[in-house]
Amino acid sequence: MWTATAFLLLAQVSANDQPIQPDLVIRGAMIYDGAGQAGYKGDLAIRGDRIVGVGAFSVAGKPREIDGSGLIVCPGFIDLHTHSDVPLTVPATKANLCYLMQGVTTVVTGNCGAGPVNVADYFKKLEAGGIGSNVIHQVPHNDFRKTVMGNVNRAPTAEEMKRLEDLVDQAMKDGAWGLSTGLYYTPGSYATTAEIIALAKVAARHHGFYASHMRDEGAGLLASITETLTIGREAAIPVHISHLKSFGPRNWGKAADAIALINQARTKGQVVSADQYPYVASSTSLAAEVIAPKFREGSAKDFQARLDDPDQGPVVRQSIQERITSLDAGPNVHIATYKSHPAWQGKTLGAVAAESKTDLLNTVLDIERHGGAQVVNFSMSPEDVSLIMKQPFVATASDGSSQVPSDTVPHPRSYGCFARKIGRYAIEDKIITLEHSIRSASGLPADILKLPERGYLKSGYHADVVVFDPKTFRDRATFEKPHQHATGVRYLFVNGKLAIDDGKYQNVLAGKVLRHE
Ligand SMILES: [Zn+2]
Repeated sequence: MWTATAFLLLAQVSANDQPIQPDLVIRGAMIYDGAGQAGYKGDLAIRGDRIVGVGAFSVAGKPREIDGSGLIVCPGFIDLHTHSDVPLTVPATKANLCYLMQGVTTVVTGNCGAGPVNVADYFKKLEAGGIGSNVIHQVPHNDFRKTVMGNVNRAPTAEEMKRLEDLVDQAMKDGAWGLSTGLYYTPGSYATTAEIIALAKVAARHHGFYASHMRDEGAGLLASITETLTIGREAAIPVHISHLKSFGPRNWGKAADAIALINQARTKGQVVSADQYPYVASSTSLAAEVIAPKFREGSAKDFQARLDDPDQGPVVRQSIQERITSLDAGPNVHIATYKSHPAWQGKTLGAVAAESKTDLLNTVLDIERHGGAQVVNFSMSPEDVSLIMKQPFVATASDGSSQVPSDTVPHPRSYGCFARKIGRYAIEDKIITLEHSIRSASGLPADILKLPERGYLKSGYHADVVVFDPKTFRDRATFEKPHQHATGVRYLFVNGKLAIDDGKYQNVLAGKVLRHE
């Protein structure tokens, strides 16, 4: 029996009825093309590094055939927000396996203003070592500012500003896709809006975009969004809000106001998007969570001097105590990595304080004295997370990095982000539709990047393709045991090469550096 969809497909696919000669055909799978439409049953053909048939077509020759019955075929996922800059240049993690196992074929680095400053050099390193997934890089503002000025709390001189602009210009010429800021971190937090606008204008000249870990995702969330929108308007550049959230128990419920503010700008025609990881916990350094940027100018040594100063010390301590209280850090903040005392990894700050027979403030100061720690912070409400996820402008992005198992207890998002959103939030709990969850991981991030010929299943596009089993595509990484790969990806094509075949990684490094042109 012919359905309306089948006729439509036939019309789309075989404008001419010439049989195609693929290397490989996936037969009878449910096809989700990345545009947000409901899935339909069909075939997908690949030749070399390209998709050559989607839906219904006739085949010549003897291609390898994969039975797709019961499986879903969709575009390889694009992760707009990772911190894999260094891991992708290191032998143990360059395959990006924890992402391949989630169906991710392209990752973006240079996020939150952090990453390699010499873009040409970074790309050369990636290409020399080989990479498991495609890589896109952004100009990282914090590291550029550190390079030119150091970690200082002041505006750049005219000369320094010129150097910053020249560096952004060079990075964009070398193939970066846009400017990224981390205004929550130092030294980004010392930059005025005007400084960011000036640098965003350079990225805009190269048709790049602006992505930001905003100044304040908690009490100052709406003011931070307003700043981001201003930067977009003044620099005439598309803006992207990284890991959109309402941070800290005192700010729960603000997601609705944030969304309203973004929608208001979108209605007026401004290009605004965001991304999100589907968890109620965030993760960063303990210092960034509880020590205000104004106390973190200079080095760790400078911070200790400030603590020991009879005038400043009490002020710094009181400020840290207030942040500990507002985050309810005792039960909410967990140690993820702490080199000085690995036995504390996985424990809450409260448990560590009790074990050390001291209070939370002194536990924090002790950790900072010994090199600092990365933490996981249960900082979001499930209602805010679900509401943000439903927005059509919100892409999926992990905020994680390429990892291999170790004794650390990091945020599980590096292993589970995409499988969790699609497997749990869409397939199991039906908080969003399956087609919405797939679009937010493929077509939408491709549109945000203006990434040519990827992100959709279309004839002629690069063959970045994932085939997964909806019954088993789930995250297995938990907050207690994060080093566990996602399950359910049966086949993964990166630039037409099978990186995962019948569920098994094939030891191929098929990723490419994607340069912005
Ligand atoms: Zn960030």
